[in-house]
Amino acid sequence: MSATAARRVLLAAPRGYCAGVDRAVITVEKALEQYGSPIYVRKEIVHNKYVVQTLEKKGAIFVDETEEVPEGNIVVFSAHGVAPSVHDEAKAGKLATIDATCPLVTKVHKEAVRFADEGYDILLIGHEGHEEVIGTMGEAPERTHLVDGAEDVGHVKVRDESKVVWLSQTTLSVDETMQTVDALKQRFPLLTSPPSDDICYATQNRQVIIKQIAAEADLVIVVGSKNSSNSVRLVEVSLEAGAKDAHLVDFADEVDEAWLEGVATIGVTSGASVPEILVQGVLEWLAERGFGDVQTVTSVEEHLQFSLPKELRRDLRAEA
Ligand code: SF4
Repeated sequence: MSATAARRVLLAAPRGYCAGVDRAVITVEKALEQYGSPIYVRKEIVHNKYVVQTLEKKGAIFVDETEEVPEGNIVVFSAHGVAPSVHDEAKAGKLATIDATCPLVTKVHKEAVRFADEGYDILLIGHEGHEEVIGTMGEAPERTHLVDGAEDVGHVKVRDESKVVWLSQTTLSVDETMQTVDALKQRFPLLTSPPSDDICYATQNRQVIIKQIAAEADLVIVVGSKNSSNSVRLVEVSLEAGAKDAHLVDFADEVDEAWLEGVATIGVTSGASVPEILVQGVLEWLAERGFGDVQTVTSVEEHLQFSLPKELRRDLRAEA
């Protein structure tokens, strides 16, 4: 950076909370208000440290597995979705359930069920071990093969090469997924595509705008947790789009002063599970170090909202 280069922050819009995360977080808050503490939540309701800590303070108890919830209690399933076997476990444990699975994840589950019923083998593009992938695979475990990137394509074994469909996790890199799909099409020329995009609107929108910003940025700071797939993808996409440097931070105090050396333009965005207060914390931290000029760069406006899970709506209505 020359001594006179103006310091600025390019702030991505849209960023942060998507409709599915907003719904999941409100679901736990409303459940606590409606039924009182404790409300058990299977896995992190959304992949964000701050959100989980805040809900814990309000009385939510996070567990890894349904069997950890004492009989007769309420358990909320996270935005990432669960396999049908998890619903069965809850029933067996006499638990009341509230399903906060994002409707856009449910859409992929339904596609998996339909294609499996029609005799297809399903090639699910996604990251091994991610909760959403585990849940989606659980819909048709015998028929679903995980494809974790283009390098996995050569290892896939299907029963009938003329009846193969690809589906994907909702929070992947759009460009990388298309490379994997191209490799799958080379291998399976009769490959069927899903009826509509599985990578959700929020993931796509956040990638589109950070790509534009990254092309001009010396540094991109993505606010998000390390286990948040869409947040990690934003770092990767930024570097691929030309950012000289990019980092993921949960909180402002994780930003390293050394990253600012020689930097004039900083791109800032946040993953779909990140509350705006954390972004504002990073902006304040940057302003204190001479980056007070914040210009918002907008691609599209998002207006999507999902209604709360029906089991919760029913009880809220009954009380009204
Ligand atoms: Fe739903 Fe997409 Fe948000 Fe995941 S990132 S909760 S799929 S809207």
